[in-house]
This record gives sequence, structure tokens and C-alpha cells, in this order.
Amino acid sequence: MVDRNGWDRDASESTGPTYTPPESFVEQANVADPGIHDEFGAEWPDCWERAAALLSWEEAYDTVLEDEDAPFYRWFANGRLNASYNCLDRHLESGRKNHAAIRWEGKQGERRTYTYRDLYVEVNEFAAALRERGVEEDDVVTIYLPMIPELPIAMLACARIGAPHSVVFAGLSADALATRMDAADSEYLVTCDGYYRRGDAFNQKSKADNARIDLEQDVRTVVVDRLGDDLPHVLGENEWDYHALREEFAGETVEPVSRDAEDMLFLMYTSGTTGEPKGVVHSTGGYLAHVAWTSHAVLDVKPADTYWCAADIGWITGHSYIVYGPLALGTTTVMYEGTPDYPDRDRLWEIVDRNAVDVFYTAPTAIRAFMKWGSDYPARHDLSSLRLLGTVGEPISPRPWKWYREHIGGGECPVVDTWWQTETGAVTISTLPGIDDMKPGSAGPPLPGIDARIVDEAGEDVDAGETGYLTIGRPWPGMARTLYDNDERFVAEYWQRFSDPAEDDWRYFSGDTARIDDHGYITVLGRVDDVITVSGHRLGTMEVEHAIADVDGVAEAAVVGRSSETGDTEIYAYVSTERGYESDAAIRQAILDNIESAIGPIARPAAVIFTPELPKTRSGKIMRRLLEDVANGEELGDTSALRNPEIVGEIQAEIGTDG
Ligand code: ATP
Ligand code: MG
Repeated sequence: MVDRNGWDRDASESTGPTYTPPESFVEQANVADPGIHDEFGAEWPDCWERAAALLSWEEAYDTVLEDEDAPFYRWFANGRLNASYNCLDRHLESGRKNHAAIRWEGKQGERRTYTYRDLYVEVNEFAAALRERGVEEDDVVTIYLPMIPELPIAMLACARIGAPHSVVFAGLSADALATRMDAADSEYLVTCDGYYRRGDAFNQKSKADNARIDLEQDVRTVVVDRLGDDLPHVLGENEWDYHALREEFAGETVEPVSRDAEDMLFLMYTSGTTGEPKGVVHSTGGYLAHVAWTSHAVLDVKPADTYWCAADIGWITGHSYIVYGPLALGTTTVMYEGTPDYPDRDRLWEIVDRNAVDVFYTAPTAIRAFMKWGSDYPARHDLSSLRLLGTVGEPISPRPWKWYREHIGGGECPVVDTWWQTETGAVTISTLPGIDDMKPGSAGPPLPGIDARIVDEAGEDVDAGETGYLTIGRPWPGMARTLYDNDERFVAEYWQRFSDPAEDDWRYFSGDTARIDDHGYITVLGRVDDVITVSGHRLGTMEVEHAIADVDGVAEAAVVGRSSETGDTEIYAYVSTERGYESDAAIRQAILDNIESAIGPIARPAAVIFTPELPKTRSGKIMRRLLEDVANGEELGDTSALRNPEIVGEIQAEIGTDG
């Protein structure tokens, strides 16, 4: 049977897409005309005007793309706009003032709803306060807040006065905060007294205070009182209480500052999965256009929706798809302060049910945890409001993908597996849910207008089925403009490897490896370094991990290379299981068998180590480099980005490399 995309539905799953979006979804999809892929190709770069058209421009741009100074591209040159105007004022003007903008779900069960007008009022008051306390256009304001409404409010207040924000994930240490403030010469900080962690008051301000001790510059600080009497705090010199400022500036409004499309909207650090975090600079016009467009085309967000991206605003996913994308489109965005398992493991489904969430977007690490906990938890709730599901952050194996579609999506919802990076600003590879068939485990084709290519060492396109480097041949609006104060590293990190400056031929290198199939679907395999050479064969860790994750009862897996005494490399596999599956001989055997049949005996691990958890970054990614150090009995590399450091010691003890 050949489906409407011209694909043979009987073809084996390993080669072709296998799920078609349901007709009911296609009928209502924001983007449902398959011609869009060709149109964007033919009209590039002007195709991106469709994205720019989703915004309100104070002054029209002259050209869509200026590439004279590549790879320092300029998008929508000389256009002028303000991001906070686009996320707030224009929705008031179009009669949506009392529409819910943010529905906030607090950790202790508190709830707050901000209409667009509420948000407008508070953003204006805080913008007035920041300005009066000395913040000028282009000053970098650091925001060190957990998932409370004051976080997006502070971001939008900065955007309003043209001060780039630098949000530092609240769970990072004082050192990490100090390093980031120092690198950006940031003299303003917005933080809070503390927040609740599993019911306990946790002191955030003392971390901020410690960071400030390390800094040479004087720092003016605003403190949000999140905990009230649960954690009393005192304010020192140049410190102000957020709520007192609001009273002082009650009812004040600030004209949104007119920003050039290329002016910096914010600075954001990468997750630090592969090494030292990089300070990525994003523009105002191109970034906002790209996030609004992808929220519309990929996440299918409509103004009437209740949309929930269950990420943290401390990372790029939250910037693009909790704050800027959804608010630019005027929808209702849900913001959740807590964790998925507190007070119980059905917490997210309770929130979906109660808010009748239409679109839900999360990460593979969360999906694997849901699978591990079992389908009883989502089954307790009515999830029928859901229309579309999304995932981002790591490759997702077919089994958790299917579990997600089945148990959260009711076997109906399309699932978009969106590949992108802090540096790409917004989604760049994904199926369009109203058009493209889905292939579990594969992100899908590049988005219209994105020239993703899988290439070999020499930069030539590889054949279907071959592994290569994931590169992007043409620029795109949401792309990073540079690394903060470090143009050289920007070029060295992303452009040098596959570009030919003499020919003015520029190609972006993502640092990931991938494979493309006959249908042009891209499967992202992981980082360039995630390759193990066993007896001369280069094996991608992801491939072996997919084969392990395919076994019933496995929740997640990570494999690394270990140098044996004889100098050969062997594979170590770390596995955590679903509830009800013991780490016994049967599952170990099933893992070995499946690897042999999926890849071959060459990929057979020398050891399968069961562990209740894998070491993860604070943004939820598996840290293979640490597991590799553990397997090799080496000194551990930088562990500051780790969320669960205690697990590393447990694994070391388990395999006897703890000295
Ligand atoms: P650092 O660059 O500091 O090592 P990081 O790369 O983890 O950190 P992010 O920008 O948050 O920081 O993550 C981007 C990376 O996440 C991508 O390069 C890719 O490896 C991975 N990724 C994101 N989405 C997907 C996806 N849908 N499929 C596969 N991998 C993904
Ligand atoms: Mg990266």
C-alpha cells in the first residue's frame, strides 16, 4: 500500500516512515500543504518572509538575508521591532487582553493565571524599575530564577528596554553563576530568596551572594520573595525586593525600545554535555521569527490552545518554546515549577487533565522515566485533550517513542521528534505534523528552508544509510550570531571544519553525527565523539543503545568504550530497567541477543552494568564522557554540569573502579 506521501507502507520499519498523521489532525493543522517543502526550496531565502510575517515590525526590513560578512549573517536587515511588544502589546491591541497568557503550576500546588493584560502590567512595572535602577539599553541582565512567573516577566522586561538577558539555570552553582556573569560583564542580577525542593525550602540567595563575592564588578540585585516566612532573608546595599519595586512603580508603563533586527535579544549557555558551556548570542528579529514560525508549523500552536512545554526556562528549549514562541503567537503557555514525580508520578498527567492541554512537548529523558514508572500513572487521567506531542534534547529510541504515542497520545497524536541546538535557536529538523509521515527514532526531514546535509570527512554528501556529520549548508534566521565576545571561537567551533572561506562557501557544523534514509529522513545518532572503534569497526553508541533499549523492560541505556589491558577497545553498557523488571540474567541475555541480531557480534558488550539511574546533565542529557572515565578507571572529568553526582560513585563501586 502506498500512502499519500508516496511511501510504501509495507516497507520495513527500518527504511520507511510508518505512521501517518490522522486525518482529524491534518484537517486542522496550521501547515498542511505538502508543497511547502518545494516552495521554500525554490524561494529561499525569501521563503523566510513567512516567518517574519508572524511578527509586528515597527520598521520594515530592507533585505531578508545579508551574507557579505559570512558566517556573520544578518537577517531582516534594518528591520526594527521589540520582542516584548510582539509578545504582549499587540495581543492587547487585537482584543486578547483577557486571554490567559501564562498558567503557572507551583510546586506546592499553588496556581496563578496571568492574562495578557496582567503580564503586560507587571512587565511594564518591572521594566520601569530596572531602568530607574540603572539598567541601560545593551546592558546584560543576569536572571537566576527557578520556574516562577517572575522569570519570564523579567525576561520580557529586559527585552522591553533593550537589555539582553542571560538566564542562568537556577540549579547551577554559585561558581557557574559567577563565571557567566564575569564573562558577560553583567552588573545586574535578578534572583530570589529560595525555592521549594520536595517540600523543603532551599536557599538560592546564598548561592547568589557567594557568586557576587567572586565578582570584581558591583552587582545590583533584585530579589523575588518566593518563600515568605519559610526562609527569611535580609537585603543589603544595592539589593531591592521585587514586590516592593512593583509597588514603587505601580501602574507605570515603558515604551518598548525599538531594536534593530540584529540587536542581541539574549545570551544563553549550552548544556555543557560535551565540555565547557558556550555563551551563544541570539538576535531579536531572526530568532523571534524562527521560534514563532516553528511554534506555528511544527508545534501547531494556535492562539486558542493551551500549550505546555515541560522544560526549564533555564535552557534554550524553555526560552524558545515556553516564552518567546508561544507568547509571540498569543497562546496560553503552561509553566510548571515542580518535578514529574512529586507529589506523585502522575503529576504531569494531572496537570494536562485539569488544564485540558492541547499540545505537550518534553524530552526523551522524561519519556523514558514515564515508561520506567509504568502506564498506570497516565491511565489515571483523561488525556484526550492532547492533539500533538513533541520531544527534544536527545535521540529517542523507537520503543519509548511508541510508548509516548500510545500511552500519552492515546495511540492517535502525531509525535514530532525535533532536532535543534542552543546554537540553532529553534527547531531545524522535524516532521511537519500536518504533512509528513513519522518514523520512530528518526527526527525526519529538514524543515522547509533548512539545508541539512549529512557529509563525510571531505564534506561530500554520504549515501543513504551511511553515517556522516550533520551539517547545515545555508544560514537560517534563528541561528546563533556569535559566541559572546568571541567571534574567533564561533568560527572555529562551528564553521571552520566544513567551510571553504576562499570560495566564500560556508557550512555550519553541528558536532553531531547522523544518517539519512532513502526518504530524506534524518536519524541523529549523537555527538561526533560518541563513536567506539572495536577491532577497526566504528560503532555509533546510539546504534548499540537503540538495540538495548529495544528489549522489553529496558528503560534507558548508555554505552561507552573501554580500553582493555591488551589495548583493544571493548564496549561497556550501562542499563536501567523499567519497574517490575529485575536486573537478572534473562534481561542481560536478551540484551546481548538483540545486539547480536541488530548489529552483529562485534558490538557485543564486554560488560552489562545495571544501575538505577544514569548520570545526567542538569538539562537531562546522559553524560557518556563520565561513564567512559568510570569504565576506564580514570579520574573523572568536569562534573559540575551533573544533576545526580551520587550515582557515579554507586556505579564505580558496582564495577570496582572506585579505587
Ligand atoms: P554542549 O554543546 O555544551 O555540549 P549540548 O550540546 O548538550 O551541550 P544543547 O544545545 O542543549 O547543549 O543540546 C543540543 C544537542 O542535543 C544536539 O547537538 C543533539 O546532540 C541533542 N539533541 C537535541 N534534540 C535532539 C533530537 N531530537 N534528536 C537527537 N539529538 C538531539
Ligand atoms: Mg552542543
